[in-house]
Amino acid sequence: MTIGILAAMHDEVADLIGAMIKQSGNQVHRIGMRDYHVGKLDGQSCVVVLARIGKVAAAATAVTLIREFDVTEVIFTGLAGGIGRDVAIGNIVIADRSVQHDMDVRPLFPHHEIPLLGRSEFATDIALSAELKVATELFLKEDFQQSVAPEVREAFGIKQPVLHIGLIASGDQFVADVERANGILADFPQALAVEMEGAAVAQICFEYDVPCAILRTISDRADASAHGDFGAFLAGVASHYSAGVLRRFFSGRRDEEQINRRG
Ligand code: SAH
Repeated sequence: MTIGILAAMHDEVADLIGAMIKQSGNQVHRIGMRDYHVGKLDGQSCVVVLARIGKVAAAATAVTLIREFDVTEVIFTGLAGGIGRDVAIGNIVIADRSVQHDMDVRPLFPHHEIPLLGRSEFATDIALSAELKVATELFLKEDFQQSVAPEVREAFGIKQPVLHIGLIASGDQFVADVERANGILADFPQALAVEMEGAAVAQICFEYDVPCAILRTISDRADASAHGDFGAFLAGVASHYSAGVLRRFFSGRRDEEQINRRG
């Protein structure tokens, strides 16, 4: 079993790569302008890579993880704009399914349908997402307060963050106006968050029959202030979230394996 982990931005994988180097050393393979870090986290084989931003970047990276590195599971970790009513900055969203809100091949195919696949929604893996849910809840309950400095929490107005599970809408657009966000909500009233990669990864994983999960930290509300202080949010909040949740995920896996081995 090898877990592939991809993110859109450097800060989201930097800690994980650092931990890998410390724990097992890493081998770096450069393919298609991306560095794939191969090694172990908590004793489990994984490949960590910076995919970069957008659906093409994410899809190409997911294919490489599957074809070149034989990953058996894929996790995407990144930021997203909250568009669901209660989805606030600093919250976490785990996708149970995803859509491409910018796919439009009308009148040849129904709006949002991916041509020739006959579907617009791609489900994430139930078991893998459930594991991430447990890891996220543990992180929020046990680690969040120490991980994110009080002044940073204050600056971004983050109190006790909440986990949401549901629909994520992806597209090659940074959504930073209320009208656009409302347009996506009109098409997908159940959408919790918008981002730029998740549904592309979910489509590739569907096509290759590889389980995938999507974990998103809410960095903005997809409105005029969405650009805000992206860099500070990434460094002060998001990097701790993804590293913290994934640390909990890997230690949960390790404990599970030890129990299985003993049993
Ligand atoms: N300002 C950043 C660019 C961020 S692009 C920079 O200078 O590097 C947005 C990234 O965060 C993408 O990976 C996307 O998936 C996610 N994201 C966060 N908020 C978003 C929003 N409101 N709309 C679309 N994607 C968003």
